[in-house]
Amino acid sequence: AQRNPGQPEFLQAVTEVMESLWPFIEKHPRYADHGLLERLVEPERVISFRVSWFDDHGQVHVNRGYRIQHSMAIGPYKGGLRFHPSVTLSVLKFLAFEQTFKNALTTLPMGGGKGGSDFDPKGKSPTEVMRFCQAFVTELFRHVGPDTDVPAGDIGVGGREVGFMAGMYKKLANTAAGVFTGKGLAFGGSLIRPEATGYGTVYFAEEMLKTRGRSFDGLRVSVSGSGNVAQYAVEKAMQQGAKVITVSDSSGTIIDEEGFTPEKLAILMDVKNHHYGRVSDYAERTGVRFEAGVRPWHVPVDVALPCATQNELDESDARTLIANGVLCVAEGANMPSTNEAAKVFEQAGVLYAPGKASNAGGVATSGLEMSQNSARLSWTRDEVDARLLGIMRGIHGACLEHGRRDDGRVSYIDGANIAGFAKVADAMLAQGVV
Ligand code: NDP
Repeated sequence: AQRNPGQPEFLQAVTEVMESLWPFIEKHPRYADHGLLERLVEPERVISFRVSWFDDHGQVHVNRGYRIQHSMAIGPYKGGLRFHPSVTLSVLKFLAFEQTFKNALTTLPMGGGKGGSDFDPKGKSPTEVMRFCQAFVTELFRHVGPDTDVPAGDIGVGGREVGFMAGMYKKLANTAAGVFTGKGLAFGGSLIRPEATGYGTVYFAEEMLKTRGRSFDGLRVSVSGSGNVAQYAVEKAMQQGAKVITVSDSSGTIIDEEGFTPEKLAILMDVKNHHYGRVSDYAERTGVRFEAGVRPWHVPVDVALPCATQNELDESDARTLIANGVLCVAEGANMPSTNEAAKVFEQAGVLYAPGKASNAGGVATSGLEMSQNSARLSWTRDEVDARLLGIMRGIHGACLEHGRRDDGRVSYIDGANIAGFAKVADAMLAQGVV
């Protein structure tokens, strides 16, 4: 805490990982040497830069841009870019730290990174968003490359923004190398990448449910958020036979006791992806209930899929979900549950998966996009989807293997942290103190 003052999210993420690792390291003391832990909690490089741009009225705005290059131990830095007013150094350091373990869990050769800006895309015109993206890349381009650092999307950065950044990157770097992932299909993108995080979260939750002899069929599900991850989590959960009752955004929650249908989801996607609207606009178009200013966690469900943002589910929300009989919580977002909430879920015997395990399908499919770009090939939808499913099952298996406690119970938190750590740590030990 003394080394990282004013970085609560970063300290929260490090604390969660270290609590899993202490007992493991006591049993495997080789990981206590060579300053391994001290090195792992220090990003290899932190880049912070000014982004100046003109709005449509000729006014100049100045935002702050960042790229955190956390670890290259097992491959090029890899992780998304977030554009949201809540972006700080602490938020991006926590995300880059988590990303390092998550990427290791995918079994693909990717290191960990994250970046973004405090720019708020809400209410900006498409030309303003384009100018901002171009200004951002005029600095970012010198720090990234297909074998150095491969950015992607995250909150506020979807296919449109990745396209604008990839275009500017080509112009500045004079190379067609697909340095961004999440690109459009016409210029090197992968099928299933937009769906991958949401689908992967549901595939992971399905594996968890199987351990209790259950499936999604007939279960009530709540989803938070209504962006990229949330939309495809809704779609896949519906396909698996679940009744999805909620979605949300920062203004409030949709509660639809009839459950989502493909037609309703198409309207939500139109509102969010084409009109950049609010879930209240969706409620107006469909006549479903909208509750302003609340989160979805008071709604009784069997499975909860938090897919919005960090710390959106606290201890009291966890207790409410448990009192209402929740069976499984799988995180589509990064660190949506506070550490206290996560502990409460585990103590109550709820199947609980931390984001670094259950939402790894997004970056895994980005890794598949990198492979396709390098091979100058594109795989079919079914091929990418099958690989995604295989990777999610593999991560689930790794969690079971490394997360089994002495009493026989499985902690997915411990499993994900230990499996991810062991791979990164072995790579670091083999490559010396650098
Ligand atoms: P989007 O920008 O598409 O959607 C974000 C959603 O979360 C919106 O509904 C947004 O509501 C809500 N949200 C964002 N910030 C806040 C906030 N401070 N308070 C309340 N609600 C908020 O982002 P994604 O769907 O891509 O990302 C969602 C989560 O999933 C993030 O935690 C991200 O890191 C994680 N993730 C994403 C991956 C990907 O492939 N995209 C991969 C792995 C993890 P509003 O519009 O009102 O802001």
